[in-house]
Amino acid sequence: MISRLVNIYFPLCSMTINIIICIIFFSKRRVENTDTKIYSKLLLIGLTESIIMFTTNLLVGLYFYQINHFVFKLLNKLLYVIYIIFLAVLLSYVYAVKNKMPNPKKDNLKDLVCCGAATAFSILILIAPINLVFKNNLGNSYGTASNFLFVGCAFFLLLTITYSLKDYKKLEQKDKKKFFPMFLLFVLMTIMMIIRYFDPFFNISSNIFSLILLVMFFTIENPDVKTIEELEQAKKDADAANSAKTDFLSNMSHEIRTPLNAIVGFSEFLEEAKSLDEVKENAQDILSASNTLLEIVNSILDISKIEAGKLEIVETAYNAPEVFSELSNMMKPKMASKNLDYTCNIAPDLPAFLYGDVANLKKIITNLLSNAYKYTQTGYVHFDVSCVKANNICKLIISVEDSGRGIKKENVDKLFTKFERLEEEKNTTIEGTGLGLALTKQLVEMLGGRIIVHTIYGEGSKFTVVLNQKIAPKPAFAANKFTEANFSSLKIIVVDDNEMNLKVSKKLLERFSITNIILLKSGYDLISKISSGETADAILLDIMMPKMDGVDTLNKLKSMNNFNIPVVALTANAISGSKNRYLSDGFFAYLSKPIAKEELVKVLNKIATSKEEAKKQTEEPEILDELPPVEAEEIIEPPEIDAIAYLKKKGVEIDKSLELLGDIEMYNDTIKDFLKEVEDKWMRIERYKLEGNMEDYAIDVHSLKSDCKYLGFTKLAELSYEHELSSKANDKDFVNNNFLALEEEFNKVLVLAKDYVERYVN
Ligand code: ADP
Repeated sequence: MISRLVNIYFPLCSMTINIIICIIFFSKRRVENTDTKIYSKLLLIGLTESIIMFTTNLLVGLYFYQINHFVFKLLNKLLYVIYIIFLAVLLSYVYAVKNKMPNPKKDNLKDLVCCGAATAFSILILIAPINLVFKNNLGNSYGTASNFLFVGCAFFLLLTITYSLKDYKKLEQKDKKKFFPMFLLFVLMTIMMIIRYFDPFFNISSNIFSLILLVMFFTIENPDVKTIEELEQAKKDADAANSAKTDFLSNMSHEIRTPLNAIVGFSEFLEEAKSLDEVKENAQDILSASNTLLEIVNSILDISKIEAGKLEIVETAYNAPEVFSELSNMMKPKMASKNLDYTCNIAPDLPAFLYGDVANLKKIITNLLSNAYKYTQTGYVHFDVSCVKANNICKLIISVEDSGRGIKKENVDKLFTKFERLEEEKNTTIEGTGLGLALTKQLVEMLGGRIIVHTIYGEGSKFTVVLNQKIAPKPAFAANKFTEANFSSLKIIVVDDNEMNLKVSKKLLERFSITNIILLKSGYDLISKISSGETADAILLDIMMPKMDGVDTLNKLKSMNNFNIPVVALTANAISGSKNRYLSDGFFAYLSKPIAKEELVKVLNKIATSKEEAKKQTEEPEILDELPPVEAEEIIEPPEIDAIAYLKKKGVEIDKSLELLGDIEMYNDTIKDFLKEVEDKWMRIERYKLEGNMEDYAIDVHSLKSDCKYLGFTKLAELSYEHELSSKANDKDFVNNNFLALEEEFNKVLVLAKDYVERYVN
C-alpha cells in the first residue's frame, strides 16, 4: 500500500522540490566558490535523477512495461549510474571542505580515486545484467547490476561518513554544520534499505536526495553577492574618506607649517636684528605670517564648529551697500596685482539696511572672490549683487564670475567636498586647503540659501549665491539695542592684568547702567578683596594672567567659606568646546574677548536671573516681574557719521578702533579718559628720558602705545613701540636721537584729540 503511494507522488514531489531549489539557487547572483560549484553539480544530478525516476514510475503506472522491457532496463541502469555519480560528487565535496581546513593534506589522489571508483562502478553497472519485476503498477529491479549499485553506494557512503568523522572535533562550528547532510543521508539510506528488506518495491531515494539538497542549500557557503558588493562599496568609501583625511592632514600640516616656519625664522632674525628698521621689517613679516596662520586655523575652526552644530548665527542690521563695496574694495588691489579686469556692480535698488548674519555673509563672498582671483590668470572677474524685494524680504543674488581655468564637468560634484582640491598638479603655486568651498556651501545653507555653479573648463566659472535677508526698517545700530536693559542694580568685579582691557570692560558695563564696578589687576587682589568681605553679584575673571591664572584663582575662591559669587571666564580662547571646558571647570558663564555686546547681555541676564533666584530663596516666595527683555526697545541714535568722517580725514584708523571698542560712543569715552591722563604720562616720559631711567620709560611708552592702538593713532603707536623696544634694550642713544619725532607726533595727537573731543564729545 505504502509502495503504491510512493510510486508516483513521491518522485513528483521530489522533482518539484528540486526544480524550486534550482530556480532559487541559479537565479540568485552568487559568488563562485568550491561549495557553490559542487552544489550546482549536485543540484543538476539530483534534478535529472528525480525526472528519470518520475518518468519511470509514470510509465510503470501506465503499464508500459507490458509493451517494452528494454526501456525500463535502460532507465534503471541510468538511475543506478546517477546514484553512483551523486554519491561520488558528495564525497568530493567532503574532501573539498576538509581541504579548506588549515594545513590541508594533498588530496588530488583522493579525487582521482573517487573519480576512478565512480567510473568503474558505472561501467560495471552498465555491462552487468539487470532483472525487472513488475507487480500491478509497481516495478523493482534486481540482479548483478543492482548488486554493483549496492556495493558502490555502500563504498561511497562509508567513505563519506568516515572521512566526515575524521578530525570532526577540530572543525570550526560553521564547517561542522556542512557535514550534517552527510550524516542525514547515511541514516535515511540505512532506514530505506531496512524497509526495502521487507518491501522490495519501497524506493524513496529521490526524496532522500532532494531532502539532502534542500538541507545543503542552507549549510553550504553561499555568500550573498549583494551584501558583499555593499560591503565592498562601504569599504571603498571608508578608504576614500580615510585617505582624503590623511591627504587633508598632510595638506594642513604643510599649510600650517609654511607660515609657522616663517614666524620662527623671522623671530630668530628679530633676535639678531641690528637696527630698528630691521626689527620693524621682521615684525611685519611675522605679523603677516601670523595672519595667514590665523586664517587657516579659523577656517578649520569654522568647519569643525559647523560639523559639531555649534556655529551660531548672529543676526544684526547692517549697511548692505557699504558692506558689499567694502568687500569689493578689499579685493581690488589683489586683482590689480594680477592685471585682472575687475568690475563690481551693486544694484542701486539694494535696500540701505538689511538684517542678517553679516559676518558669515562676508566670509562667503570673500571665499568666492578670492577663489576667482586665485584660479584666474588672465581676463576678468566680475562681482555682482542684485536683489528682488517682496514685502520686507530681500532676496540677494550675489554672483562672482571669472574667466579663469574653469572646472571639469566630472569634478563639479567634488567641488564642495571637504579637503578636496581639484587638479592638484596645477595647484602647486596656488595656496589652498580645499576647505573654502565646503565651508562656503555649509555657511550658505545654514543661512537658508543656495549656491549654484556654472562653469566651462578652460573658459571660466560663475558662482551664484541666492539667499533671503530681512529688510531692516530703519538704520539701527545693533550696539544700541540693549542699552535700555536695566542691569543698574548689579555690582560687578572685573579682574584683568591688562589695564586697557579693564577700562574697556568698565565702559561696556557702564553702557548697561552698571556703575557699581570694581576693577582689579590680579587674582591675588581678588582673593584679598573677597577675604576682606567684599561681595558682588558677579566676577568677570580673565583666564590668561601671569603667576596665578583665572582657573587657579577660581579654585582658590571656591575653597573659601561661603563663597558663592558667580564667576564668568574672560578669554581670548576661540577653540570650539573651550566654553564647555570652562563651564565644567566651575565657571558660571564664559565670555570671549573682545567682548561682544550681545554676549555680554546674555551673561548679564543670566547673572540678574541668578540674583533674583537667590533673592527668591531667602525671601517669601512672590511672583516676580519678568526680567528686562533682552531685546529692549531700540533707541535709534543719529549715526555719528560726522565724527567718524572727521577722524578719518585726520588719518585716524577709526575702523580698527571701532572693531576693538565696539562703537563710537565707547570710543568717545575712551578718548576722554585718554586726555585725562595722557599729559601726566607724557611728563613722566620726559622725566624718565632726562634721568636715563629706561626701565620706567619703557613702561610708560608701552602704555602710550596701547592707548594709541585702541584709539587708532597708528603712527604714534608705532613710534612708541620703537621707543619701547629700544628702551627695553637700554638703547639710550636711540631714545635721545628719536625723541623729537615722538614728541612731535604726540603733540599732533594731543591737539587732534582735544579738538575732536571739543567738537563731538562734549
Ligand atoms: P582651495 O581653493 O583652498 O583649494 P576651495 O574649496 O575653495 O579650496 O576650492 C576647491 C577647488 O575648486 C580648488 O582647489 C579649485 O581647483 C577649484 N575651484 C574653486 N574655485 C574655482 C574657480 N573660480 N575657478 C576654477 N576652479 C575653482
